[in-house]
Amino acid sequence: MKHTDTDVVIAGGGLAGATLALALARVSPALRVTVVEAFPLAADALPDSYQPSYDARSTALAWGSRLIFEELGLWQRISEHATPIQRIHVSDRGRFGATRLNASEYEQQALGYVVDNRWLGLCLMRELLEADIQWQAPAEVIGMTPLEQGVSVSLKTGDAITALTAQCLIVADGGRSGLREKLGFQPSHRGYNQNALVANVTTSDSHQFTAFERFTGTGPMALLPHGSASRAGHQSALIWTLSDQELEEFLVMPQDEKCQRLQERFGWRLGRFDRIGECSHYPLTLTTVSEPVRPGVALVGNAAHALHPVAGQGFNLALRGLMTLVEQFRLAQEQDLSPGDLQVLRRYHELHRPDWQQTVQFSDSLIRIFGHPLAPVAAARDAGLVGLDLLPGAKRLFARKAMGTGGRRAVINRPTASEKK
Ligand SMILES: Cc1cc2nc3c(=O)[nH]c(=O)nc-3n(C[C@H](O)[C@H](O)[C@H](O)COP(=O)(O)OP(=O)(O)OC[C@H]3O[C@@H](n4cnc5c(N)ncnc54)[C@H](O)[C@@H]3O)c2cc1C
Repeated sequence: MKHTDTDVVIAGGGLAGATLALALARVSPALRVTVVEAFPLAADALPDSYQPSYDARSTALAWGSRLIFEELGLWQRISEHATPIQRIHVSDRGRFGATRLNASEYEQQALGYVVDNRWLGLCLMRELLEADIQWQAPAEVIGMTPLEQGVSVSLKTGDAITALTAQCLIVADGGRSGLREKLGFQPSHRGYNQNALVANVTTSDSHQFTAFERFTGTGPMALLPHGSASRAGHQSALIWTLSDQELEEFLVMPQDEKCQRLQERFGWRLGRFDRIGECSHYPLTLTTVSEPVRPGVALVGNAAHALHPVAGQGFNLALRGLMTLVEQFRLAQEQDLSPGDLQVLRRYHELHRPDWQQTVQFSDSLIRIFGHPLAPVAAARDAGLVGLDLLPGAKRLFARKAMGTGGRRAVINRPTASEKK
């Protein structure tokens, strides 16, 4: 495979691209990997110590994602600033239905963990800078031309346009750069006519490591236990879906009115809302690409599927897909196939597709059923929540989704010392 400049080009060094690069460096060290990232990446910009900030954005990592990071040898570092989710409480605002999941029922230490995105990024960057991976940053992938063997990837660095030949291009650009459309992929978008408002909040009662998923007449809301340097146990990460109008009104409210509005919607399970931090917001759309592979190119992470964030499934799903891709690249090496071979990429897609379809359906139906204001639908979901709580089989299935252990687990054995040579 040495006739190309590199073996795999990854367009985008965000959570998905960086994790993939690291996993390939660990599992298939013989593959030459180049990451192209639009933002600058300076090793000396990485701080020696990390202090959680009150306003940091965070991601809920499912238990299954912890197992993957363990396999990659990264969990120990990530866990230094990870808040465990020991219980999940799902309920419908103002109605009786509720269901509860408890890690101890499943003989696990936690159902998942809440980790600041910045900390996760730092952990990945530190490991990546030590790994044998080429970086081009700041630079953008702007196109790709198929070659007889492999692909030619066009890069823009400042005003200069250059090309890099590779066996395969993996698009991990988050779906926002227009690259996948340029390459001929056709994403389908379904807007939810809602926005996700994200902020950290302080409450008078401790969260006791409980995540709350609450469905209100205007849309779902999640409060995840979040670690903080001060008032330990009293800080949660809020993800709240609001219409354009509600969002506009909310953003200009003074602090105490914001807390009051939140109190009205969430209730008193965490006591009084004392403070709400910096608010950021994102329009909500379900984006999927039904055929995310072509000869020499594959989409991963948000470029392949962007979900509603309230169920906290997006990155967890992406991570399982990345491990399937890594597994298939390793098998391809054993069979002397190029990683860009369509049969390799199709096999990856076929193996990941059931998990992808079920997870999209799971988070989409949560939003549609639980965001519905009509009384009969609300009564049915109350019955559903009660049923879920009472029926161990149904509850176990729900728990497996929440813990990220329901899908296929890729086999990504790391090579032995002799294989590395
Ligand atoms: C509010 C919110 C809350 C969420 N909460 C959760 C959660 O709790 N749990 C969970 O599992 N998921 C969650 N998600 C989903 C999760 O954030 C995404 O799945 C994840 O960030 C996707 O990472 P990515 O690397 O695919 O994309 P991104 O994070 O968007 O990274 C893309 C990278 O590519 C770079 N780039 C872009 N274009 C180019 C180009 N042309 N060339 C080179 N580089 C380029 C960008 O600079 C960026 O670094 C949430 C999402 C939102 C919006």
